[in-house]
Amino acid sequence: MSRQPLVAGNWKMHKTVAESEAFIQGLLPRLTTADNVDVVICPPFTSLEAMVDSTRGSRVEVYAQNMHEEGSGAFTGEISAAMLSELDVHGVILGHSERRAYFGETDEALSNKVVAALEAGLAPMLCVGETDEEREAGTTEDRLRIQITEGLSRIDDAQLASVAIAYEPVWAIGTGKVATSEQAQEACAFIRSLIAERSEEAAAAVRILYGGSAKPDNAAELLALADCDGLLIGGASLDPESFGDMVAAG
Ligand code: PEP
Repeated sequence: MSRQPLVAGNWKMHKTVAESEAFIQGLLPRLTTADNVDVVICPPFTSLEAMVDSTRGSRVEVYAQNMHEEGSGAFTGEISAAMLSELDVHGVILGHSERRAYFGETDEALSNKVVAALEAGLAPMLCVGETDEEREAGTTEDRLRIQITEGLSRIDDAQLASVAIAYEPVWAIGTGKVATSEQAQEACAFIRSLIAERSEEAAAAVRILYGGSAKPDNAAELLALADCDGLLIGGASLDPESFGDMVAAG
């Protein structure tokens, strides 16, 4: 089965609305090639509405960087799935390692977030990945198995392929230390095998992305890996030229 590559930019806590507008005006004219690649930007909450408006009619989809699992309630500072879909946001990143590390995001909460996102019509992108210590200790696959099994535990097999998985080794995020092709392929293939334990059909269709210090000069090599169907990009997605080059590599 052929899987359409997905190249996504995670802006983290960068860009005001004005800066987001400047980015998108710089990016859109660069998206003249490779319309066989899905292009996603993940701005901060404050820029979501402006980016949905500015990308309407283009091939760029807008994802949020997080959401709460409950529909509403006393959760100061949080945002629900319905609030995102009301803005016409297309999807949402769930379980980024920064959210897991700094905001105590658990696999249990993520399993509920995946359900809430799908129920609201949002495309979830579930992030998983091992720490440096786990890789050194040889427990990478144990960590990935827990994150995938628990994160996807509350959805049916028929929904598995609606979730994109981003394999992001924590030691590679924002460090300039990209995984080797062998490491990235091995982990992406392992994740696909975990999905196959539930459904061979879903495993063939599910998109698995690599994230961690991906740059224009290593994008093509990563995107050529058999089990890597896209990139989740942090730092290199903040500049329209560099992000546009990485889309063109897809
Ligand atoms: C990320 O934040 O998801 C990421 C991959 O960051 P960077 O590309 O900067 O390593």
